[in-house]
Amino acid sequence: MNRERQVKIVATLGPASSDRETIKALFMQGADVFRLNMSHGTQEEQRARYELIRGVEAELGRPIGVLADLQGPKIRCGVFGTGPQQLESGAAFRFDSDTAPGDGGRVCLPHPEVLGALVEGATLLVNDGKIRLKVTAVGAGFVDTEVLVGGEISDRKGVSFPDVVLPLAALSAKDKDDLEFACTLGADWIALSFVQRAEDVREAKALVGARASVLSKIEKPAAVENFAAILEASDGIMVARGDLGVEMPLAEVPPVQKQLIRDCRAAGKPVIVATQMLESMITAPVPTRAEVSDVAGAIYDGADAVMLSAESAAGDYPVEAVATMNQVAVKVERDPLYREIIQAASTPSTVTISGAIATAAKEIAETIDIKAICCFTFSGTTAKNVARMRPAVPIVALTPFEGAARRLTLVWGLRCVKAAPVNRFKMAVIEAVRGALSLDLGHKGERIVVVAGVPFNRPGTTNILRVAPLDEQAVFEGEDAGPA
Ligand code: PEP
Repeated sequence: MNRERQVKIVATLGPASSDRETIKALFMQGADVFRLNMSHGTQEEQRARYELIRGVEAELGRPIGVLADLQGPKIRCGVFGTGPQQLESGAAFRFDSDTAPGDGGRVCLPHPEVLGALVEGATLLVNDGKIRLKVTAVGAGFVDTEVLVGGEISDRKGVSFPDVVLPLAALSAKDKDDLEFACTLGADWIALSFVQRAEDVREAKALVGARASVLSKIEKPAAVENFAAILEASDGIMVARGDLGVEMPLAEVPPVQKQLIRDCRAAGKPVIVATQMLESMITAPVPTRAEVSDVAGAIYDGADAVMLSAESAAGDYPVEAVATMNQVAVKVERDPLYREIIQAASTPSTVTISGAIATAAKEIAETIDIKAICCFTFSGTTAKNVARMRPAVPIVALTPFEGAARRLTLVWGLRCVKAAPVNRFKMAVIEAVRGALSLDLGHKGERIVVVAGVPFNRPGTTNILRVAPLDEQAVFEGEDAGPA
């Protein structure tokens, strides 16, 4: 149950992983956060999964994060009267607002605001990018297109518009309903799909309030262009390579992934790399070499988390997929080159007291034999600041708030512990000693670094650091000669 790695694993739950035994096995093999995908299944199915997760959490006594992923404003075409249609390259095809069933020459696009935003030359992608069309003419309630790459189109296929910022509400009616449902349920993170601008994130955050953290999925070129402002407005980021790879040329996805990871690390906000990480394990018990290399690459880049989608939600080998990710992560992080690479890509401390203390904690832990950096944290800021430095020793995030402990499970390196509330620094040190010992991070007499903000009831005031013995009695009696 104790992790031998700093990177986190997110596992999506679905039909292949909706019983208590499988959810527990996924956690035991390494899943730190479970994702509920609101694009699939009913709210009642998601509620049942959520309750099973919380049951496993209570049984094992470890905080578990839950991420509810909203479907987002996905655009779909209408239906066809006579079944699927084959669109040939070079042919003409019309999208219009006529709700009559489509045929080989036209189909309804039931989003007038989208039809109105398209211009001549704009690209349309249908069915995960398999069909590519170019707008040749626009008119009242229709656009005419030329098929550039043909293929089969059928009822309610997804349509995307990679080079147009759509005048769409960030949250559909279903998203708003799912958001409220997920917050009421107790989800720790809400993921927003098809974010285009920072305002989309701010709109969702206003609805979520303090009930959860908000993560933006980067899956549209517009989001890549507006990334700095989106990152600023978000609590975390997901590199959603599935849709990103549809909306931009595939060869552009790896550099975008690397840049987003680097920007998130610099901002000290968690970043998940998602989609097709171990895709072949949907049907096979072992992954391909390329998939293993892809997972390893994201870990060498310092991503906070790597994610499984259909592999754990609907595949034949959900538990094996998590175990494989865990093995890859452990191997990568034991590689001496890993630390070199992680350090080379790190950004300097922020010019703040909190940043300076986080840097000092890392330096001390890497200079003398320190078993863990223990952060007493209320909002999570202290722990995230330390994680941002990517130190070589485990980080323990101790917080009296269950919600904060659960949210922090997504962050690189953090072992999260719900601690007793404290009002004196000495008590925080004692809680840190207990936490580190309960996680088997060291033995009596060895040392930890403790970082906190005093006074305790003010979030975001990291201002104190102490090297303490892993010995409750010695701390209590002041034998380590630190401040009382
Ligand atoms: C993606 O597109 O990569 C992604 C994670 O989104 P979803 O699976 O929700 O479509």
